[in-house]
Amino acid sequence: MRACVLHSAEDLRVEERSDLALTGDEVRIRFGAGGICGSDLHYYFEGRVGDFEVREPLILGHEMAGEVVEVGPGASALRVGQRVAENPSHPCRECRFCRGGAENLCANMRFLGSASVSPHVQGAFQDVFVTRERQCVVLPPEMDYGIAAFGEPLAVSVHAVNRAGPLLGKHVLIAGCGPIGALILLVARRAGAASVTMTDVADGQLEAVRRLGADETVNVSRDSSGLGRFRENKGRFDVALEASGAVSAIEACIECTRPGGRVVQVGMLPPGTVPVPVNKVMAKEVDFVGTFRFHHEFDTAIEYLIKGLIDVAPLLSGRFHVSEVDRAFRTAAERNGTMKVQIVF
Ligand code: ZN
Repeated sequence: MRACVLHSAEDLRVEERSDLALTGDEVRIRFGAGGICGSDLHYYFEGRVGDFEVREPLILGHEMAGEVVEVGPGASALRVGQRVAENPSHPCRECRFCRGGAENLCANMRFLGSASVSPHVQGAFQDVFVTRERQCVVLPPEMDYGIAAFGEPLAVSVHAVNRAGPLLGKHVLIAGCGPIGALILLVARRAGAASVTMTDVADGQLEAVRRLGADETVNVSRDSSGLGRFRENKGRFDVALEASGAVSAIEACIECTRPGGRVVQVGMLPPGTVPVPVNKVMAKEVDFVGTFRFHHEFDTAIEYLIKGLIDVAPLLSGRFHVSEVDRAFRTAAERNGTMKVQIVF
C-alpha cells in the first residue's frame, strides 16, 4: 500500500508500505476521499500542532471515507463492497472518562494521524487502510466519499455547538472562518440561532461564510473598531465560539458576550500559556468552556450528511490526486475563501 508520511516540516513523502494480514475484527478500506484538517496543516508546515510535535515518521490524515475491500476473520458487521466513513477517535472504552460517557476525553486516547502519544498513531492517508470495524459507520451505496469525509470536522462542530448549549433564538458570534468556523455556522443555523456574526482577518474567508449564510461579518484586522458596537452594554451576543486559535480573539469573544452568556474555546492556540481576561469572565459570570473533538456526535454528523440536513458541498474547495499532495496542502492553507481541500488516491 501507499501512504502519505510526514518526516518533518514540509517533508511529506508518498511511500510504499507492506500490506499486513487482517486479524480479529479488522477491515481493509480502500481510500475514497480524505480531507486535510487544520491540524494536518500545522503538522505539515510546522512539524507540530499545539503541544504535539512530530518526533518520528507520521502518516497524516483523520478525515476519510472509503470502500470495504476485505474483512478480518472476526469481523461480522461489515461486508465487502460497503461504503463507510472512518471514525478516527479510538478511545479505550475502559478508563473512568470513557465509562462516564466522555470518550473524547479518554485518558488513553489513540486518535488517527496524531503525534499526541509516542509512538505516534498513524493516520488514514493510505490507499488501503486497516481499521477495526467498530470504527466504521456504514454509508448508503451511492453516497459520495467527499461528502462523507466531512463527517469528522462536522462532528467536531456538532460537539462544539453541544458545548455551547441550546442556540434556539440566540445571537451567536463565531471567531474564525476556516472550515470549522464555517461548519459551526451551518450547525448553529440548524440549531435555531437567531443570528450568526463571524469574524476573520481575511476578506476571502468572510465572503465565503456570507455565501454560506452568516448574517454579518467583520474583518478584525482592518476594522479594529468593527466589534466595538458588540462590546457595548456589557456585550451583545448570547454565545461566542472561538474557532480561530488567535489569542486576540479570546478577549474579543469574552468582551462581546453578554453577562451570563457562554464562550466556547474551539481553536487550538500556540503552545504555552495565553492571556485570558479572567476578571471579565468573573464579573460578567460568563461561562468559559472548552470543547475537544467529539464522541457520539460522529454518528450525528454522518446522519446529517446522509439525510442532506447539512449541505457541506459548498465547502469543498478542491480535490487533488495524491501525486500532488504538496500542492493540496499549500492550497488548503490559502485564505482566499478556501475551505476544505481533499485528496484521493
Ligand atoms: Zn478511555
